[in-house]
Amino acid sequence: MALSDTTEIHQFPCLDDNYGVLLHDTESGTTIAIDVPHAGAYEQALQDTGWTLTHILITHHHWDHVQGLGELKKKTGATVIGPERSRQKIAGMDRTVEDGDDVLCGPYEVKAIATPGHTLDQISWHIPSIGVAHTGDTLFSLGCGRVFEGDKEMMWSSLSKLLRLLPDETVIYAGHEYTEANARFSLTIEPDNPALQARAREVADLRAAGKPTLPTTMAAEKAANPFLRAGEPSVAKALGMEGKSATEIFTEIRTRKDNA
Ligand code: ZN
Ligand code: FE
Repeated sequence: MALSDTTEIHQFPCLDDNYGVLLHDTESGTTIAIDVPHAGAYEQALQDTGWTLTHILITHHHWDHVQGLGELKKKTGATVIGPERSRQKIAGMDRTVEDGDDVLCGPYEVKAIATPGHTLDQISWHIPSIGVAHTGDTLFSLGCGRVFEGDKEMMWSSLSKLLRLLPDETVIYAGHEYTEANARFSLTIEPDNPALQARAREVADLRAAGKPTLPTTMAAEKAANPFLRAGEPSVAKALGMEGKSATEIFTEIRTRKDNA
């Protein structure tokens, strides 16, 4: 998929439902991997594209995001950058980041946005110059990550931060292909949302054809993803929670999904 004159992105399935992502600049040869669910799948993807890996960005410490890291780093010598909070948990990081840090990967200035909740270390990576972000296991299409290490208030504040910082046209990659199940759940929250109904149909068609539902865009998620829409009056109304805060409404939606 071509995003700018010189950027190409290759997304490929890893493990059961994870994605690997390679982002490549044709001019400088810079190639960035985001998370390494499986070293072999990345090696195959590098072979398929002919790209030489230069950087690896990590979103969080869960095994399905770092499992292949050691092997891929050993085989490619790529520079590994990940969350400072997981300095002790993730072996092989050359550099760590905290909220708001910028890292230079070839021509790309990549911003680290701390989005804790699913885990405390979670970083979303944003490259404003090309309008691309990877939200790890924080924001999914029509969903958000399960809250393991933080609490629901923390997750809502992280999603609110993404709403604030990522422009509508931002192309969003994420850790997992969960969209079909997310669509089914989302329709129980906002059955009458036409944008959600349309997206659910699109997702069903894509999956039936064996195609990925990612990337998505911020605009599409703002229109259809109930987890991002917790501050919308229409969602409060659909839940019979008029007058409640966005945090309370998000907490209700996340709790229902946990029990679904
Ligand atoms: Zn995770
Ligand atoms: Fe994951």
